[in-house]
This record gives sequence, structure tokens and C-alpha cells, in this order.
Amino acid sequence: MASTGDYYEVLGASKDSSAAEIKKSYRKLAMKFHPDQNPDDPGAEERFKELGEAYEVLSDEEKRAAYDRYGHAAFKTGGGGGGFGAGGFHDPMDIFSQVFSGGFGDFFGGGSGRSRDGRKRGSDLRYNLEVTLEETASGVSKGLELEKYVACETCGASGSKSGDGAQTCATCHGHGIVEQRMEGFGGIFRKQVACPGCDGSGQEISDPCPDCRGQGRVEKMDRTQVEIPAGVDHGIRLRSSGNGDAGVRGGPSGDLHIVLHVKRHDVFERRGEDLFCEVPVSFGTAALGGELGVPTLEGPASIKIPAGTQSGTIFRLRNRGIRDISSGRKGDLHVEVRVEVPTRLSGEQKEKLETFTESIGEENSPMHESFLEKTKRFFNL
Ligand SMILES: [Zn+2]
Ligand SMILES: [Zn+2]
Repeated sequence: MASTGDYYEVLGASKDSSAAEIKKSYRKLAMKFHPDQNPDDPGAEERFKELGEAYEVLSDEEKRAAYDRYGHAAFKTGGGGGGFGAGGFHDPMDIFSQVFSGGFGDFFGGGSGRSRDGRKRGSDLRYNLEVTLEETASGVSKGLELEKYVACETCGASGSKSGDGAQTCATCHGHGIVEQRMEGFGGIFRKQVACPGCDGSGQEISDPCPDCRGQGRVEKMDRTQVEIPAGVDHGIRLRSSGNGDAGVRGGPSGDLHIVLHVKRHDVFERRGEDLFCEVPVSFGTAALGGELGVPTLEGPASIKIPAGTQSGTIFRLRNRGIRDISSGRKGDLHVEVRVEVPTRLSGEQKEKLETFTESIGEENSPMHESFLEKTKRFFNL
């Protein structure tokens, strides 16, 4: 459930806090309330979730600006809040592991990320994907090339030449820890440390695969096909499960987080599900009314404009915007007409326009009238 507490308060930050301060504060609190650190305190998990939610908003420049302006209303989800709409919050663990790139398993001194046989989950990866406005509207299938760990084919991800996999570590006899003797002031101390022979896993590879040196995975340029659903917007993060780094010795793969960057469009500007554009109209058509060709994302269309259309008038084309990813509702297209004043007139055109201007008189223009009205009102005339 979405939090209703003030995000700044939740993070122990203020409206003036810099991005770095917010990140620092989040790291500190997330460490404190991480569920792994507080197994017996259900309140900590709730707090951890709240932290993730607050950080997701305040760490994103655009979301933070929206929150500063509209508060929680900026992120209200419609209905069940499916998928990754602007308000769809993600797993707080995702955010956490992103801030601590390397995964929290590593952060808490190993153990939680590595199983007894030396298998280990691969890291999550982030990919900044640039897409066009058209692609966000229709959805698109994208081939991403990225350098990542993939399972080693030579050894079938086992890490061992023979394919037998790991065996009990000879140094620690499978315990994963060894005792170290330390001499101090009070005498000799014993301290348990992770076994250097097996990196604490208790298992070792006696015949490491030469290609992956016992890791069961190799780094290479890999191509991943991802489906970008229709309706996504700039800054949205999509998770492609299992497309991150392959795990160590056949451990589960991490996830791939795709962060969308929508390229600026030459014609349209997107606000929410609505699109906006400006279309020039000739002085003649604006004055007399008529058909006006307008662009839409689906291709050219035309609208009828009435006689006497003023510059700046906005015409709304229903359902020509972007389809909302969670509600399925389609936005509108707002076309603002800009009356163009001709700049290069021939002698004959000039003459005709002069005759026209004389015939109409300056004070006949509706803009002039309304300006006069306003002036009168202002001075109480
Ligand atoms: Zn190998
Ligand atoms: Zn060992």
C-alpha cells in the first residue's frame, strides 16, 4: 500500500536537501530497517517499504518536482494499480539493491547471497534505453546489446572442467569458516573468519574450468530482446526478470532494469496521456475558416476551424493521445493554432491588403475590442 507519510520526513530529509543528502540519508535508514537486520520486527519491514517508496520519488528529479507541487496526489494509482504506471511503486528491494549496486548480499558481509555449494545469484543490471514517442505510444520490441555475465558453455555453468561441480573445501572441511589465532594484550584470541580457500562457501572447485576459472560464467556482449509495453513514459523503470548477470556456478540470474528515456519529439509534447502541438495556419484560413491539416501520432489528419479563429486557440482531438498503461484510457491531442502573418508580400498583394485594412478598420478586430473592454474596466470608465 502506498505510504501517506511525508516523504521528506520518512527519509529524515528536508525540501532543501540535495540529491546526495537524500541518498545518504536513505542508505543509512535502509541499512537500519533492512528486514535481514530485523528478522523479529515486523514494523521494520513496513518502515523499509516506506523508505523505498519515498526514495523512489525523491531520488528522481521529475518525480520529486511533481511531489513538491502536488504531494501524494501526484502518484495516485488508479484502481488496482497494475504494472508500472507513474504511480506504480516497485519492490523496495529493487531500489535498495540499486543504491547498493552489488546487491545487499555483498553488503551484509556475504552469507545471504551465497548458498552452501558456492552458487550465487547474479547482479541486477541497469540499462538506459532511449525510445521515441511513437514507440512509447505503440509499444515496441527492442534488442539490447549489453556486456554481462552469461553461463559458461564449456563447463555447463558448473565451474569445473570435469563437470562434477564443487566439492567440499579441503581447507575448512565444508564449514565455510576458519579460526584465526590472534595475539592481543590479554593473551591469545580466536576469531572466526570466512575461509579464504572457498570464500566462505564451504565448497571448492578442484579442477576449475579454464574458460571461466571456476566461476561457471563468463563476461561477454549479449543481445537481449525486451518488450516495451504501450503507454510507458519517460523515467519509467521496467524489470526484465532473469536478464541480468548470470549467477556464479549456475546460481540464479539477476534482473535487468530498463530505465526509459524518451527522446524529444519534433512536433509533439507529452503531458500525462495527452499530446500537445502547435500548427501554423494562414491568416486567410483563420479569418475565413476552413480545413486545417494537423499531425497526429497515427499520421496526418484534418480539422475544421471556424471563421475568425484566433492565434492561440486550442482544438482538442479526442483519443489521439497516448493510451494509459494502467487504466487503458486514451488521452487527447491538443492542437494550438498559430496564425502566421505573411512576411513577403508582392506589390499587388500589399495593395489588396491595404484596401482590405482600410475597409475593415483597426477597431473592428475582436482582440482590439476586448482590449478596450478590459482597459475600461480597469479604469472604471
Ligand atoms: Zn566454465
Ligand atoms: Zn573453505
